Amino acid sequence: MRQMAIIGGGAAGLCCACEAAHLAKKQKKALQITLFEAQNRVGKKLLVTGNGRCNLTNLQTNAEDYNENARDFITPALTRFPPQSTLAFFERLGLFTHADAAGRVYPLSNQAAGVLDALRLEAARLGVQVRTETRVTAVKRQNGAFLLNGKERFDVLVLACGGKAAVKDYNGDALLRALGVPFTATAPSLVKLTTTSDFPKALKGVRAVATLRLLLCGKAVAEEAGELQFSEGVLSGICAMNLSAKLGRFFAKGGTDAAVQIDFVPSMTSEALLQTLRQLCASGQRTLNEHLLSGLLPKQVGLALLKQANLSPAKPTASLSGENLEALVRVCKALRLPVSGTKGYADAQVMLGGARLDAFFPQTLEAKAVPQLYCIGELLDVDGLCGGFNLQWAFASARLCAAAVVEGTP
Ligand SMILES: Cc1cc2nc3c(=O)[nH]c(=O)nc-3n(C[C@H](O)[C@H](O)[C@H](O)COP(=O)(O)OP(=O)(O)OC[C@H]3O[C@@H](n4cnc5c(N)ncnc54)[C@H](O)[C@@H]3O)c2cc1C
Repeated sequence: MRQMAIIGGGAAGLCCACEAAHLAKKQKKALQITLFEAQNRVGKKLLVTGNGRCNLTNLQTNAEDYNENARDFITPALTRFPPQSTLAFFERLGLFTHADAAGRVYPLSNQAAGVLDALRLEAARLGVQVRTETRVTAVKRQNGAFLLNGKERFDVLVLACGGKAAVKDYNGDALLRALGVPFTATAPSLVKLTTTSDFPKALKGVRAVATLRLLLCGKAVAEEAGELQFSEGVLSGICAMNLSAKLGRFFAKGGTDAAVQIDFVPSMTSEALLQTLRQLCASGQRTLNEHLLSGLLPKQVGLALLKQANLSPAKPTASLSGENLEALVRVCKALRLPVSGTKGYADAQVMLGGARLDAFFPQTLEAKAVPQLYCIGELLDVDGLCGGFNLQWAFASARLCAAAVVEGTP
């Protein structure tokens, strides 16, 4: 009986165990799977995904939704196991789903627990041995096999330890290095941005639909639209978090000059907005500055923007000059805030960086220098945007690896 160990009972580890056990049974191959999980139960992180609803894949997934250096590497996994295949996999496990207009897929129950139940019940049904509260702290290559924690031997080893986001006591990097596999620098990603500007302070708890442009060394490198949220010294919301991946890489390389430019009225050009404000003043519909933006923006945002343009809310709009209106349009359409960094791993959804991709075969995820060693999920240097792309990668990489292991099992 070939012995396979999986370190990590998260999304990728559980999915890999279910798929490998299913394929081995179907193909009548003798494979015993043992899954090691450090925590007292498997899949704890899955339970908090998608605000407890688990956005398990995205129907519009393509390579551009992931870090640039990973796009070629992930293509074999995403091509063989695209989102539709993820849905078919979960239907086989008795989990049914629905998708929203952006292609984000959730369980029909809207409960992440349903996704975890599907995986853990299938693993149990197929005879996967699950060892919770068992942290693997030592791995060693010995006579063509893998020795775990100095005592148990396995023919195949799959590392599915995930990343450092929202995790204490991470040792995935140490396990890889012990096997001679290189690990890149890492940083938190899909995380809130921090700013030294006072602007968000007055808007604590406020949400506004906006377009954010990320400026690195004064150059626009990315743009995201969506709901922006504010708290003291912090910008959040999916659009801000999606920019954090590029920022993390910039800061990791020693970059310092970062800013966001916010367009609070993305539905109008600057000219159209200026024209609108002029008309509102001239028609007498808005007699005080404090009301000028009230039909366009949340009230608090309008007041904060008046302040940025050095305009007093209490003054009559009749006293506004053409220059005053142009200054107001500039802050509405292109308010620039310096970005000092991001929040840490405790607040992050994923880790960027990880096991170096050139150390693995993209068609199987087996390590080039260590036969029968595989790496899947977030532990690899693959990170996606918000929207189900990270779990899609976890499931696709897990199933690619499972197929490779079973195909190689006599
Ligand atoms: C708050 C939050 C919300 C998120 N929401 C979404 C979402 O809606 N959609 C989406 O696509 N992605 C989401 N993500 C990201 C997604 O959860 C991860 O990308 C995904 O879980 C990665 O799967 P993984 O199996 O590689 O790692 P994990 O799910 O992190 O699993 C790794 C497992 O390995 C165990 N482990 C680690 N080291 C050892 C060891 N040495 N010995 C034994 N066990 C070990 C850990 O305890 C853990 O259970 C979210 C993340 C967070 C934090």
